[in-house]
Amino acid sequence: MSESSLRLVWIYPDLLSTYGDQGNALVVERRARQRGLDVTRLDVRSDQPLPTSGDIYLIGGGEDRPQRLAAERLRRDGGLSRAVADGAAVFAVCAGYQILGHEFVNDLGEREAGLGVLDVVSTRSGDQRCVGDLLADIDGTLGLPPLTGFENHQGITRLGAGAKPFARVRFGHGNGSGDGTEGAYSGNVFGTYMHGPVLARNPLIADLLLKLALEVDTLPPTDDRWYEALREERIAAATQSA
Ligand code: GLN
Repeated sequence: MSESSLRLVWIYPDLLSTYGDQGNALVVERRARQRGLDVTRLDVRSDQPLPTSGDIYLIGGGEDRPQRLAAERLRRDGGLSRAVADGAAVFAVCAGYQILGHEFVNDLGEREAGLGVLDVVSTRSGDQRCVGDLLADIDGTLGLPPLTGFENHQGITRLGAGAKPFARVRFGHGNGSGDGTEGAYSGNVFGTYMHGPVLARNPLIADLLLKLALEVDTLPPTDDRWYEALREERIAAATQSA
């Protein structure tokens, strides 16, 4: 790995990668290379130590049991919390989002500790799952177009004072807590319920992660026609199924 290389870490592909969430790593990697950046992608399995020197960490969603195993291993490892303290950018989806919070309800129906790097707490809705296409407006200070994604979760998430809502829902459920929010962020740490893969549907979020990691305000433009066509199709689906 070269010293100047941007280090992208995909956390626990063996446990957390539902609905093609691994596509998020592909999108960040590709958009970095399109800008001529040297990028090293590390796929770190759950039996391996997590490097603390990453610039961007990505975590996907997962079924309830793998989610518990992932949380146990990440707590024991401690590397992600250290990387966050060092300012790394983190983008987590669904089960990964819940793991970043203080706690969630695991597959045994018990409260399980998360990493506490995002001020959120997740519980479970009764039997109802939040499923379908979502459309939401991302926090205006982030300067991003509307969020499109697919959600499938039973967990519901409440934000504490230390986390800001990532987006406000127009169609769909999002955090599911009844306050109309979707996802959460604080500093360089982001959580969302959105699959899709969400960064393929929202490539400017991938660019935001690159900008945070590189500490730059802008990146060279890319040809985003393919992404735009996908966005248009999925935004129409969210609007029509409402
Ligand atoms: N097991 C979690 C839930 O149902 C996360 C699901 C997911 O990652 N899609 O809330």
